Amino acid sequence: MRTVSASRSSKITNMPNPSPQTVLTNTFGYQSFRHHQSDIINSLINGNDVLTLMPTGGGKSLCYQIPAMIRPGVGIVVSPLIALMQDQVAALKQLNIKAAYLNSTQSVMEAREIESQLQQGELTLLYIAPERLLNQRTLALIGEIEIALFAIDEAHCVSQWGHDFRKEYQQLSVLHEYFPQVPRIALTATADKRTRDEIIQQLALGNADVYINSFDRPNIHYELAEGQNSREQLWRFLQKSHPRDAGIVYCLSRKKVDAIAQWLSNKGRTALPYHAGLSHDERQANQSRFLREENIIIVATIAFGMGIDKPDVRFVAHLNLPKSIEAYYQETGRAGRDGQPANAWMAYGLQDVILLRQMLQAADANAQYKRVTNHKLDAMLSLCEMTTCRRQALLAYFDEDLAQPCGNCDNCVKPPETIDGKIAVQKALSCVYRSGQIYGTNYLIDLLRGNNTERIKQNGHDKLSTFGIGTEFSATEWRRIYRQLIAQGYLLVDIDGHGSVKLTEKCRPLLRGEQAIAIAKPREEAPAEKKKAALKQAVQPWNQTLFDALRELRMTLAQNQNVPPYVIFHDSTLVAMTEARPETENEMRYITGVGEQKLARYGAQFMAEIKRHPLPELFDNSLSNTVNETLYYYAQGLNIPQIAIKRENSEDTIYQHFSDAIAAGIIDPQALLDLNDDDYALIINTIEYVKNENTDGRLLRPVFEALEAEYTYNEIKCVMASY
Ligand SMILES: [Zn+2]
Repeated sequence: MRTVSASRSSKITNMPNPSPQTVLTNTFGYQSFRHHQSDIINSLINGNDVLTLMPTGGGKSLCYQIPAMIRPGVGIVVSPLIALMQDQVAALKQLNIKAAYLNSTQSVMEAREIESQLQQGELTLLYIAPERLLNQRTLALIGEIEIALFAIDEAHCVSQWGHDFRKEYQQLSVLHEYFPQVPRIALTATADKRTRDEIIQQLALGNADVYINSFDRPNIHYELAEGQNSREQLWRFLQKSHPRDAGIVYCLSRKKVDAIAQWLSNKGRTALPYHAGLSHDERQANQSRFLREENIIIVATIAFGMGIDKPDVRFVAHLNLPKSIEAYYQETGRAGRDGQPANAWMAYGLQDVILLRQMLQAADANAQYKRVTNHKLDAMLSLCEMTTCRRQALLAYFDEDLAQPCGNCDNCVKPPETIDGKIAVQKALSCVYRSGQIYGTNYLIDLLRGNNTERIKQNGHDKLSTFGIGTEFSATEWRRIYRQLIAQGYLLVDIDGHGSVKLTEKCRPLLRGEQAIAIAKPREEAPAEKKKAALKQAVQPWNQTLFDALRELRMTLAQNQNVPPYVIFHDSTLVAMTEARPETENEMRYITGVGEQKLARYGAQFMAEIKRHPLPELFDNSLSNTVNETLYYYAQGLNIPQIAIKRENSEDTIYQHFSDAIAAGIIDPQALLDLNDDDYALIINTIEYVKNENTDGRLLRPVFEALEAEYTYNEIKCVMASY
């Protein structure tokens, strides 16, 4: 069916057979491959099948784009979502790569035009929806042309256990039957061992080269907070960490999506809803604003996000529990694809736990399906309730071992305190037992706290031995205890819909007081401030004006072409421009993300903008960024103690920065330290004197002592740095 052409006429340049490295540098503007990209590309060029698991933001698409450009024929990319296709094609066109897509948004005329280009061999890459590919007409059409490779993106859709299951994906094995010589690559950003095996089996990839990358997304900070009044918590999180950023807020129901989007809008943020209850046009419009404008918040059900390739999503917030760790990992993975710091934040409470347990137990599904999904929910719940490093647990779920705690999750940054919960748990459980195992947690908490409600009186439960035995804890604290007991499987939630709880076998040793149980105490507000502040500094403050100007230029260019801004350049490329401030084409070429096409298209405009915002003289030095940041605040008029507070550093560290700047001749020590001429001369003379006396090189302490502790070590250090 496929004629292997001997000639390998290159589609990129006039050069025959460019190497993957040449394509990477000249076309895409990157200096080096990441992860297993290079091995994957070579496997495909050599005609092998590949299965790759690569984290979001790991550079998946280059793995098939580059071989498609090097091998003869067209690379066919199967993708389940239309927005992703459109963005990728727009991005490829920016690079002058002949790419197109076939999907249901096109008119018949448009589709015919693409098909004719395909027949003429004019395309390098074709993106296509699975159902479109699988129809007989399309299969017949591609049977007549030369095919470089098949790329099956989001391959986990093949798994019937997964939350993204798509029936057509299971039929993609026909590609192997019809086109046995064409190499295939299956890609996914998330798959546990079971899903991985399923992909291999369903897609007949038994002989594929398998490349599994680390699932770790070190730039994402994980925080799973317990949620009383999660809406207010969300607002505080947004105000504190993301006052101006784009992000996604996930909710479980359409009703909640609408309410939260409205509430955020009333508070002055641009928040747009997205769920299956909106019309197609509304959904498209909101998604397109999210992609094309800056600082938009999308409030969505899980229907939103797959295939959204926006690199600068700075946060993903969950107001409900996801159903599995895969779902959580994938949804949070939409944050920080550009590798810059991002937050995965969640607030969940007792009601979420009860609701999900009920939904799963009530679901109309076979026993095996229920077993698997229940197991997945258990894993998700234990991630929530754990008190050790979240990232270690998350990675362990994907069979990956992280040797040390990560230092970038809530439990690492601020380890939760636990208390011995033996007695409290006994009380909570016996209260369930004594009242007959037919009540929900609110009723039980009233019982424990001795609230003599109408219902309790009617039932005569004010006579129970457990009535009022739990006054030492607030209702909120009891709710936390019940949540942990349900999450850990000590209590079973009834599926009658009223949320009554029953004891399970597992809780016997707890009731008998034979098993210790630790109960996590609530975390106090404002964790991780320091870490976030340290991570947040992507654009240096003295470069901020230039960065804003470059972003504005990017927005104008994007609007003129009706493409999302990041298709022009990623934020990380703009940040690199503010740091390197290229003035010539050759310097521009070395900015990561600037290839030959983009250099030709945009280089001059961006260089002109850079020229319009020259680097202030103070920062035109070769000192480190951290020293310059201290200088920045100094130039803003802050004194040393103020700078130390602002930067959350010790004053000693700030003095060290200044002595570096003094040594470089940028700062005058006399002005900095507020020393008059006599003081200054005295210190200088003393240094000279000690220098002549002491030849072993130790100066600081002898000078300090010779000056009889009149001046601090830091002052002396700064003066010494001046000559
Ligand atoms: Zn951690």
